Amino acid sequence: MRLAILSDIHANLPALEAVLADIDGAGVGELWCLGDVVGYGAQPDECTRLVRERCDLCLVGNHDLAVLDELDVSAFSPAAAAAVRWTQETADPSTLDFLRELDPADETRDVALYHASPRDPVWEYVLWPDQAAECIAIQAARVSLIGHSHVALFFVMAQDRRPARSQAVELDDAARGAQAGAGTRLDLSEGRWLINPGSVGQPRDGDPRAAWLELDTDSWEATYHRVEYEIDRAAAAIEETDLPEHLARRLYVGQ
Ligand code: ZN
Repeated sequence: MRLAILSDIHANLPALEAVLADIDGAGVGELWCLGDVVGYGAQPDECTRLVRERCDLCLVGNHDLAVLDELDVSAFSPAAAAAVRWTQETADPSTLDFLRELDPADETRDVALYHASPRDPVWEYVLWPDQAAECIAIQAARVSLIGHSHVALFFVMAQDRRPARSQAVELDDAARGAQAGAGTRLDLSEGRWLINPGSVGQPRDGDPRAAWLELDTDSWEATYHRVEYEIDRAAAAIEETDLPEHLARRLYVGQ
């Protein structure tokens, strides 16, 4: 099946609309979202409605859980915590009802899905090869997808070096990894992979364009996509609210 993978939309409606238009042109079978539909941005209800309509599957992320009061915001940055409070005060009850039904992981498919990481689906940022190797060792499928860091990247380990699930992780067995710019194609036919599509609504890898990943689970290929969107619209929507202004400015630099 050909899939479109989205993550970390963060209430950025112009970015989500641009990504969905790009996905429409790609003719994929299903859309999967790895969580954090809300938080940071100014249009949580509009984004949640679109995700509900368009996505075949959606995980819950740490910002979604914080808005639901199911995660303490003490570990959040001040701006992130302010956005959680603003979203709690302004979101429609139907938005919260949708998010409340979601899980942070799905290990029931050919591809395992986690909002953050295989060993901590809610909170761990996977950015380094030795850390990725420990995650790859315990992931529930040969190919796994994660979001959360807002950085488009991938890690791979040779299949024959995989410790069995019940065995101790071989700590010196580092995974190879790299950030993945627009157009990067991966041949996933061999090895064990941990893949982050990047963020739709708040990229942090220096490329401000909205990110999504095309994944073909028949040919086992993946392609990274980036889409221009009207950042001015997303920034203006934030500036019209009580959300911290910094959340608008960071969109222009992709950080
Ligand atoms: Zn996020």
